[in-house]
Amino acid sequence: MSREIKSREIKIHNEKCVGCGTCELWCSFTFQKAFIPLLANIHQSFVSGEGFKISFTEDCTQCGICAGHCVYGALEIVK
Ligand code: SF4
Ligand code: SF4
Repeated sequence: MSREIKSREIKIHNEKCVGCGTCELWCSFTFQKAFIPLLANIHQSFVSGEGFKISFTEDCTQCGICAGHCVYGALEIVK
C-alpha cells in the first residue's frame, strides 16, 4: 500500500477513546506486517484526570485505515 500521499485528514475525538488499541494494531499490521502497537503511526495513552489521548507520528499518511476500524468514533475522517 502506498504511503506517500496524505489524501485526507483525521480528526481526533479524545473523549470517545476507550484505549482499546485496535487502531494501533491495524496500523502496525498494515505497514509493518506485525501486531506490535509500538510500531504503529498512531498511539493512545492514558493521562490521569484527563482520559485517553491519541496522537499520530510524523510517518502517518492519514490513510484512514485506523479510523475505519475505530468503532467508538474517536477517529473521524473529515476529508
Ligand atoms: S482511537 Fe478508537 S481504536 Fe484507537 S484506542 Fe481509541 S477507541 Fe480504540
Ligand atoms: S492513518 Fe494510516 S498511517 Fe496513520 S496511524 Fe492510521 S493507519 Fe497508520
